[in-house]
Amino acid sequence: MLPDEPQYGLIEVRGIVQGVGFRPFVYRLAGNYGIKGNVTNTSEGVRIRAAASSERMRGFIRALSQQAPPQAWIEDISWKELPAFEVEDFTISSSLREAGTSTLISPDLATCDDCLAELFDPNDRRYRYPFINCTNCGPRFTIIEDTPYDRPMTTMAGFKMCERCEEEYHDPANRRFHAQPDACPECGPRLWLGDDGGSEIAGDPIELAAELLRNGKIVAIKGLGGFQLACDATSGQAVAGLRERKRRYSKPLAVMVSGLEEARRICRVSEEEARLLASPGSPIVLLNEKINNSISREVAEGLEHQGVFLPYTPLHHLLLREAGIPLVMTSGNMSSEPICKDNLEALERLAGIADYFLLHDRDILIRYDDSVSRIFAGAEYPLRRARGYAPYPVKLKDTYTTEVIALGAELKNTFCFLRGSHAFIGQHIGEMDTGEALSHYEEARDAMQHLFRLDPQVVAHDLHPDYLTTRLAMESSLPRIGVQHHHAHIVSCMADNDIQGEVIGVAWDGTGYGEDGTVWGGEFLFSDRAHFRRAARLRPYLMPGGEICISDISRMAAGVLWEVGESDGIAEELAAQLRSGFNCPLTSSAGRMFDAAAAIIGLRDKALYEGQAACELEAVAKRMSSRYPYHLLESNGLLEIDTRPLFKALIDDVASKAQMAEIAGRFHTTLTAAIVETCSRLSEETGLERIALSGGVFQNELLTSMVLEGLSSAGLECYLHHRVPCNDGGISLGQAVVAAERCRPSPQIEVPSQRCQALL
Ligand code: ZN
Ligand code: ZN
Ligand code: FE
Repeated sequence: MLPDEPQYGLIEVRGIVQGVGFRPFVYRLAGNYGIKGNVTNTSEGVRIRAAASSERMRGFIRALSQQAPPQAWIEDISWKELPAFEVEDFTISSSLREAGTSTLISPDLATCDDCLAELFDPNDRRYRYPFINCTNCGPRFTIIEDTPYDRPMTTMAGFKMCERCEEEYHDPANRRFHAQPDACPECGPRLWLGDDGGSEIAGDPIELAAELLRNGKIVAIKGLGGFQLACDATSGQAVAGLRERKRRYSKPLAVMVSGLEEARRICRVSEEEARLLASPGSPIVLLNEKINNSISREVAEGLEHQGVFLPYTPLHHLLLREAGIPLVMTSGNMSSEPICKDNLEALERLAGIADYFLLHDRDILIRYDDSVSRIFAGAEYPLRRARGYAPYPVKLKDTYTTEVIALGAELKNTFCFLRGSHAFIGQHIGEMDTGEALSHYEEARDAMQHLFRLDPQVVAHDLHPDYLTTRLAMESSLPRIGVQHHHAHIVSCMADNDIQGEVIGVAWDGTGYGEDGTVWGGEFLFSDRAHFRRAARLRPYLMPGGEICISDISRMAAGVLWEVGESDGIAEELAAQLRSGFNCPLTSSAGRMFDAAAAIIGLRDKALYEGQAACELEAVAKRMSSRYPYHLLESNGLLEIDTRPLFKALIDDVASKAQMAEIAGRFHTTLTAAIVETCSRLSEETGLERIALSGGVFQNELLTSMVLEGLSSAGLECYLHHRVPCNDGGISLGQAVVAAERCRPSPQIEVPSQRCQALL
């Protein structure tokens, strides 16, 4: 073809290309390259009919991916030649809806700088308007009912645009061109302050709420993915009051600050951390606290890390600036219940917790908690994936033919749909142990299934017979695949890093149901994506009373003391129980070892939330080079780390009144050495050199950084999570991949679902 001969073609762009200003971008680009034709949103992405010389066309297609808007994520651009067609100019056509197809949609995006400037510009018509947004920012997933992402498919459908908004919406040169949630004070949602009965209080709602917060009141705020509870973070009394009413004792609370500058007054903030704080996902970021900052000790007692986040909606920006103080901002619920999303629901369920309610009339369709993340070793290390992240899919290098739904674990629950190379991991649900949690789960799952037209053929679940998710799987009509908890952790880490083949997996966590029916949690596995073999473990101890040891950690300490022959310190009743062995299951859990150590050192006897003792043990620990002894032995075909010598020496240290910081430090150093030595031994035996680290214990920064150093100086290659959490929030991804991998069509059996059935 001659270079100047006009070319006609159909360009299809897939990825996150809706709700991110992609069509206006295409429109402008078409202008630059002299392309004629049109662009339209389809259920699968964006479709462009284009006519131009082949040279211009090439430049245009190249620029589509190279210059795409910041929030867009292009997965694939396809080109198909079309017969010549008549065309005068370039236009944007209305969206097409096709059955059986689906597109990706951007998560909710934090307020952009342009909107922020307008928000605080007295001459702007949206000055102090709490719902300002544009194609680069604003609500997305929390207001979407269906795709393609257009206004009638959102909870903005009921707000009719005024003339000026309409003009902006239709002007391709405008930042709000086709911004679906666009609104202004004249035509958009309205904010008001209500008392605890919901009656509106006259006056500027932001000024009123800020004043109340400064006076120590608790205000419920209708945020993006649900209600939040706010109070003065500098007031011990206000925070204690909030804890009392919410029945959330001890568990650390997040603090919202007005901006990076204020974050830096409270905490040390690295470049990477600043970038993460200000990213469109706007997660709560765990930061190292500065000593003697203005934040009340009640907010995160006993910990050196503080969860901090920046305002991510115009409402938050207005409130933080007006209040002039950092605010505790926590999800609007009673402890362990799902977050409230509707006005009436909030007034009812938060009655007795909040003194006042900052309400508005834009509905929230889907509940989303705030996400939690941190920077570890220079990269993001997520802890909770929710608002701003989910349901942005985790893109895998591998493509699977079987579509799977994985139901996740019991704590920090998420579910995951796997289709092709997309893992759609749902937002953090939390503890799956109540009826409310179950309905939240089902609501979120059904919404995602509908939005992305998902149609799983197989259900993957944990092996624990008592998990609610396991029971859900049993009720399902789909073929089931049970996946061992720690195998799921390791495969989650493998998928997170797109690695194939076999690895040595170190899965250390609190609790996971083992293949032998005992509680696992200090595991080393030879693992590939489909199968695993247990290679080594921590030596198990008795848990007097079973699961009760998770909260009553002094019992776990008794279990350890018993085994190391220090039974003198054990209460008579417990000693009797240990002697009889009644209700004393064995556990190899690493989490329980942290609990036992914390209790023996005298940090605390009871854990008020899962992992509290381990977090505090890390917080007091000083990095030590000396360590306690341990044995690494072979027992029943497994390598076993015998920690009895460790605990004996630790008890001696306590008796000789060694510093708590040093004891805790040596405890960390010892476990590090044990992990590194075990991995080295397993590597020598097998030639495997890749180590995948997963499980909640690796939220421990001190331990993880020492393990990382140790493994790399042993010449081993170490893989950590960076897209999904290492805790049980990442389990669903691992379950889904294991199931899909086991369903890969094999030469003998051609129908994948039959193969799955055979595995039941
Ligand atoms: Zn904006
Ligand atoms: Zn308007
Ligand atoms: Fe786990």
